[in-house]
Amino acid sequence: MTSSVDFRTCPLCEATCGLEVTHHDEKVVRIRGDRDDVFSHGFICPKGSTLGKLDEDPDLLRAPLIRREHGHEPATWDEAFELIESRLVPIIEEHGNDAVGVYLGNPNVHSMSGVLYTRVFLKMLRTRSIFSASTVDQMPKHVSSGYMFGHPDLIPVPDLDRTSYLLMLGANPYESNGSLATAPDWPGRLEKIKARGGKVVVVDPRRTKTADAADEHVFIRPGTDALFLFSLARVLFAEGLVDLGELDGQVSGIDELAIAAESFTPEAVGETCGVDPDTIYRIAREHAHADSAAVYGRVGTHTTEFGTMASWMVDVLNVLTGNLDRPGGAMFPLAAHEQPRKARAFQVGRWSSRVRNLPEVRGELPVSVMAEEILEPGTGRLRAMVTIAGNPVLSTPDSDRLDEALAGLDFMVSIDLYLNETTRHADVILPGVSPLRRPHYDFAFNQLSVRNVANYSPALFPLNEGSLDEWQILLRLGAVVSGQGSAVDLDVLDDGVFGLMVGSAVGDPSSKIHGRDPEEVFAGTGGGRGPERMLDFLVRTGPYGDAYGDHPTGLNLDGLIEAPHGIDLGPLESRIPQALCTVSGMVELSPEPLMADVPRLLAAVGRGVGEGFVLVGRRHVRSNNSWMHNIDVLVSGRDRCNLQMNEADAARIGVGPGSRVKITSSVGVVVAPVEITDAIMPGVVSLPHGWGHDLEGSELSVAGLRPGVNSNRLSTGEMDPLSGNAVLNGIAVEVVPA
Ligand code: SF4
Repeated sequence: MTSSVDFRTCPLCEATCGLEVTHHDEKVVRIRGDRDDVFSHGFICPKGSTLGKLDEDPDLLRAPLIRREHGHEPATWDEAFELIESRLVPIIEEHGNDAVGVYLGNPNVHSMSGVLYTRVFLKMLRTRSIFSASTVDQMPKHVSSGYMFGHPDLIPVPDLDRTSYLLMLGANPYESNGSLATAPDWPGRLEKIKARGGKVVVVDPRRTKTADAADEHVFIRPGTDALFLFSLARVLFAEGLVDLGELDGQVSGIDELAIAAESFTPEAVGETCGVDPDTIYRIAREHAHADSAAVYGRVGTHTTEFGTMASWMVDVLNVLTGNLDRPGGAMFPLAAHEQPRKARAFQVGRWSSRVRNLPEVRGELPVSVMAEEILEPGTGRLRAMVTIAGNPVLSTPDSDRLDEALAGLDFMVSIDLYLNETTRHADVILPGVSPLRRPHYDFAFNQLSVRNVANYSPALFPLNEGSLDEWQILLRLGAVVSGQGSAVDLDVLDDGVFGLMVGSAVGDPSSKIHGRDPEEVFAGTGGGRGPERMLDFLVRTGPYGDAYGDHPTGLNLDGLIEAPHGIDLGPLESRIPQALCTVSGMVELSPEPLMADVPRLLAAVGRGVGEGFVLVGRRHVRSNNSWMHNIDVLVSGRDRCNLQMNEADAARIGVGPGSRVKITSSVGVVVAPVEITDAIMPGVVSLPHGWGHDLEGSELSVAGLRPGVNSNRLSTGEMDPLSGNAVLNGIAVEVVPA
């Protein structure tokens, strides 16, 4: 038997590593890093090498399941869709479209169909009850970017490969491989900052692996990043260190910000943050004097009640030091598929949640209200849910309540790879597609990449016999909920969807193909039907595209196919003012909704000091949130789901290594073994997320053997009011021997 070698981009996390896959027919023999990949140069983490094991996992769903009297049983696609039609359509007819909620899990953004066809499905469903993993850990960045730059997806990333000084808060890319800043091999890139004489500073309640490797680690009390960052800004203003550089004249609101910062002196916030004021002064000065510098904040800064304030201040500091939009600072990527964006005022609250009247943000309601929107009786109650590639029972707050809520729904449909802790509630589960059996292009992460690259991988293996592709599943589901019936001709429907995309572009004066004949564009687009046709269209009309012949050397799908190791489009370039979408055309440093929240932040000064334990999360490189714990090589070895606790705290409550402790919050209790360490602040304890695979009805034979505990049984449903993001860090807990 001869083996073949193919190359593809790993779709598991945001790092987008190139993989070299050796296989015999449909059996993977070996996966290693692709040394010729233009971006990752051979880097790989333990998860990437397990894609073959994932593809072969006997627990992976390969046919639809219908829940019957004695559990879930295999069904045909027609049976599954007929049941969905007979149950979901009457709910919509009687209670309206908003009575059907949708939860989108993180893997959606790692799939071409998940990005492109989920949008189509949502348009066909016409519900306002949309929830996603974005309000678990990243909505603050969208909100601050929306207000400052005019578009929630216009997110600056640290220019890792050229910066001289990197200040990181709440981020541990040695374990997570990076997030909202796509860079394969973060460890190597951080080492290079140091090697070229630069400095890496990590601010975190834990001395993480990343902090260990940095030049400096500063402990900070959970939830106080916004205070710390505001204080850095205050030092810059007070010491005359503000220098906007090239952005001078393109920034508004600087005087208002200077006034707002006056109260946040290092002396005022130092004790609350647990950071010596002298350290704050020194970091502010170092930052201002560095040849180039970037501030980068991630999950730990976002998952607090001041997530948006912290996210805002990250970019305020990049602006005040003249580092926004310049090499070595924080820059805006330009993805190959990016389409023109229009200037408009960023808005939230176009509609609100029913029970607590909380505003939508970016078209979504906070995940923290999902359970109450189902459970609380009354007009407008959520009666049905569709979950797509998500496991909110493990990954969203107050999970016992959500578990109870999902169990009481009138009807539930899931699209997923597994029968897991969430999909066990579904009446119908439609199987997703293994990553090796679908094509890949990173729509989400190419626009967050620290270098402009384009990388396309065709599906390595064909779909399993009898399977539907994910775009077909989503279109067929869309046809059901929009009243077109489950027997719809998917090819005709897809042509209609694509035709609308083309029509919209040719009618848009800012499009590269404005005024062209839509039929000619339609007929001239490659990729067949489905997401690859859309990819060809988006890349050809994108910033490097061939514009359907206007730029003959430009990119198209054929060009991407001919470059299995990716196409390097060069280092990030300055994009202001063209990229800005604010109505003023300026960077807005003091947006009114953020300024209005400053008194709330100020009121947090002095709060929480010297009180009991607070809980924070953590990440391990072998975990991919909740969904890869069924791969044996990723969960073997020592138990990683334990409570980290400072040695002084452990002595005080009388526990030793491996002791079991009971952790209690205002909403839940879990029992976990203790790991005693000096790498965590006194008063802070840490549990990893994504565990708790011991719920009856799920079928995860490997994960079930080492279930761990679900940290979200302790998270309370509290949120950052500006973004609706869940508060997952800094939760007050009691810890006692079990
Ligand atoms: S770092 Fe992320 S993209 Fe790279 S191999 Fe690991 S899981 Fe895949």
